[in-house]
Amino acid sequence: MTAPLLDVTDLERHFEGVRAVDGVSFQVQPHEVVSIIGPNGSGKTTTLNLVTGTFRAHGGTIVLDGARIDHASTVDIAEHGIARTFQNGRVFATLSVADNIEVGIHSQLHAHRPFRGLSHVFLLRWIPLLAELFVAIFGTPAARRERAEIDRTVDLEVDRFEARLGPRRDDPAYTLSYANRRRTEIARALALQPKLLVLDEPTAGMNQSETAEVLAQLLELKAAGQAILLVEHKLDLVMTVSDRVIVMDGGRIIAAGDPQTVRNDPAVIEAYLGR
Ligand code: ADP
Repeated sequence: MTAPLLDVTDLERHFEGVRAVDGVSFQVQPHEVVSIIGPNGSGKTTTLNLVTGTFRAHGGTIVLDGARIDHASTVDIAEHGIARTFQNGRVFATLSVADNIEVGIHSQLHAHRPFRGLSHVFLLRWIPLLAELFVAIFGTPAARRERAEIDRTVDLEVDRFEARLGPRRDDPAYTLSYANRRRTEIARALALQPKLLVLDEPTAGMNQSETAEVLAQLLELKAAGQAILLVEHKLDLVMTVSDRVIVMDGGRIIAAGDPQTVRNDPAVIEAYLGR
């Protein structure tokens, strides 16, 4: 069996006596789409906030790809490979779509570039490349290459939402529709090329056709092997896109399994589905 990408064990977080997350354990396997559902106040967003380092856990462990991240900063967690979006959508209002996406790229470049360069040098033709490496680190060609790489990634992410974001590439985010702001936020998270994409209600406030677009996007990401941890209220979307569904109530996991099993679980029907 392969090691889990994300391994959460006995996670706990309370707020002034409220046990928001109360002994939660779950895993996300590589390439898996896992959704967390549950009534309002059941601890879904707090769980995401713990996994992404926005809140510090009061107990339990979080391991990403073999490394403990439960005491890491949000920046370190991002560099380890988790990118997220927020419940209400957060973009930099005065930055353009392209610049918002570029913000996502920088930490990734600075986190991984030197190692990529070095492994290339040591594994392949290292002696002739020493001079090039020197220039790559200290000279302007490096800056040009980095610029080109950033532009390529921004274009790639804009293209992902071509019909929507393409014409708005250079427009400031405050001029965008709500749905386009949320698309920009997803594009920025994806620009990090995360091992795990964490989405907090990506379709909140979206109409039916916008929701269908997000679903299509998620299915495309899933087909490409992107691991996703999703909190979402729209059950049809959840049941369509998820490999596994986790149901929370009162800070605890009350059921987990494939969508069909969860949909038919009596405890879930009583606590959440209400039918
Ligand atoms: P969900 O995402 O399932 O709606 P949350 O994780 O937002 O649930 O909230 C779980 C519980 O923790 C709720 O009782 C909520 O009021 C409480 N809670 C969440 N965040 C905070 C906070 N920052 N301060 C105080 N209480 C909080």
